Amino acid sequence: MVGITLLTRTNFTGNRFMKQILTTIAVWFDSWKAKESEDDRIDWVRVFPFVVMHLACLAIFVVGVSPAAVIIAIALYALRMFAITAFYHRYFSHRSFVTSRPIQFLFAALGASSVQRGPLWWAAHHRRHHRYSDESQDSHSPRHGFWHSHLGWFLNRRNLRTRTEEVNELLRYPELVWLDRFDLVVPIFLACLCLLTGTLMEAFAPGLGTNGPQVLVWGFFVSTVILYHATFTINSLAHRLGSQRFPTRDDSRNNFFLALLTFGEGWHNNHHRYPGSVRQGFRWWEIDMTYYLLRMMASVGLVWDLRGVPERLRGRQR
Ligand SMILES: [Zn+2]
Ligand SMILES: [Zn+2]
Repeated sequence: MVGITLLTRTNFTGNRFMKQILTTIAVWFDSWKAKESEDDRIDWVRVFPFVVMHLACLAIFVVGVSPAAVIIAIALYALRMFAITAFYHRYFSHRSFVTSRPIQFLFAALGASSVQRGPLWWAAHHRRHHRYSDESQDSHSPRHGFWHSHLGWFLNRRNLRTRTEEVNELLRYPELVWLDRFDLVVPIFLACLCLLTGTLMEAFAPGLGTNGPQVLVWGFFVSTVILYHATFTINSLAHRLGSQRFPTRDDSRNNFFLALLTFGEGWHNNHHRYPGSVRQGFRWWEIDMTYYLLRMMASVGLVWDLRGVPERLRGRQR
């Protein structure tokens, strides 16, 4: 009798385990299948593709290197960092400027190619970060552990779901909803594009010394993993290292090095003081590449109504 009970219990646990794995895999293909959860533990099935992205970088020792492949990796880092900081962050999360629907979609898709989930998931979590900065409900405060703020927070079940209730006004765009639901489509497309580009370069410009697998590894895997960790430093290091100009109620910091790496996002204490501004470097010497590029886009009419920083905050010291 005890044997039968144990067997049934083992079967039951096994079934639940299998169901959980299948659900997680289903979420890879349709992220809106993710259910509401209070589970803070790391979802190890979810970790698998993230680890694969890192391990794939080791293939540089197999495919080798060429200037062309490195230039493609740097260009894809720069383009996607801009899409994340200007659009995922300053536009979708904070509505700090206005643009047309085609440009909104183009940069949402470029942002999605960063393999940091869709624009709605990203913006929804970020809005919560500002509402509860470094409090218990903040999804990624370093007060709950450095590694949790850097990468643990998006690998648990609690933060898997797109918090659609936070981004109501974006739900009326079916193209954004589609990008968010099927958030693997654009990254897979970019990986294929890298492979194809490298193959064509090998066929038509063999002097460049590159090929499909090499451009795939450098342009997609290496570039994306560096982009990952540069972006994540804003949630981890920019709430730990640097100076605090404004006495915000959180731990946000201004950090020159992080600002260079992330095209201006390192002026994070400025940003927490006034999140609605399109610029995060408040002083002339606070280099903010994203802001300069948005100004250039504004000069040719691609974006408009850039929201500035109130004069009283631009000269104020703590
Ligand atoms: Zn922050
Ligand atoms: Zn923000």
